Amino acid sequence: MKIDILTIFPDFFRGPLDYGIVRRARETGLVEIRIHDLRSFTKDKHRTVDDRPFGGGEGMVLKPEPIFECLESLGDIRPREDRVAQLERAPTKQSVVLLSAQGGRLDQTLAAQLSALDRMVLICGRYEGVDERISQHLADREISIGDYVLSGGELGAAVIVDTVTRLIPGAVGNQNSTRQESFTEASHASELAVDGPNATCGSGGLLDYPHYTRPADFRGMTVPEVLMNGNHDEIRSWRRKTALAKTLRNRPDLLERVRLTPEDRKLLAEVQLAGLDGASPVPTKDI
Ligand code: SAM
Repeated sequence: MKIDILTIFPDFFRGPLDYGIVRRARETGLVEIRIHDLRSFTKDKHRTVDDRPFGGGEGMVLKPEPIFECLESLGDIRPREDRVAQLERAPTKQSVVLLSAQGGRLDQTLAAQLSALDRMVLICGRYEGVDERISQHLADREISIGDYVLSGGELGAAVIVDTVTRLIPGAVGNQNSTRQESFTEASHASELAVDGPNATCGSGGLLDYPHYTRPADFRGMTVPEVLMNGNHDEIRSWRRKTALAKTLRNRPDLLERVRLTPEDRKLLAEVQLAGLDGASPVPTKDI
């Protein structure tokens, strides 16, 4: 996948995209990331990228010209109408994304959709935001990384690059591990319906189960016995139960969306009875 990031602070990206999975994906050519300095697309000697808002009000707004010209300089970006039309026929192949607190919220499902793109352009706003004509006539979607306001889109762009890259086949050593994580869709969980402890791993939209490694006893804090007895059925059941308990405690909203098996419902009832979550029963959907 080719990723272009448009920013007034190109140096911001020295570091965040140079480690771990993203770094490896860049080195092996799975992703090619290019950072573009919007100031290079200005024409005045002060390299002005912002201006006061029409109608008055606080702060400055990023001007449209440098952003349009920078995107046009990339050459192979299809017209917005084509990209919008693609959005209706998944999977899309190109997307120009405006980072915005007003955008649709990034989640694992959207990250998976983005990971199927060939080309992704990320436009980072600053100040009070970006001239609205970028959203209306250039970007084909706006993405927010959460319900809070950041100072700029750069952190959001780095978050998107990280979460999307690790979902590109080949980026993570064992691709199953990305299917076994928190929030992963139920369809992925069913792909993993195999014997052995790994059968426990499809989160099916829940939060991940707890992980432990050596030592088995660290300062008197011990690893649950069940994980060391080699009984795969018991391990699977324990992992599912603890994932349900953690989801109920930290993100009960997820349980309203997840399709629970009869076994899940039984485990959830046990969790609630044991008071592991401190919450009252939640409405859940059957498979
Ligand atoms: N006036 C805007 C508002 O109230 O929605 C906030 C502008 S913010 C200070 C400057 C830039 O940071 C935005 O243009 C956007 O690119 C980025 N930004 C802020 N919060 C964001 C979020 N939650 N997700 C993604 N980008 C965000």
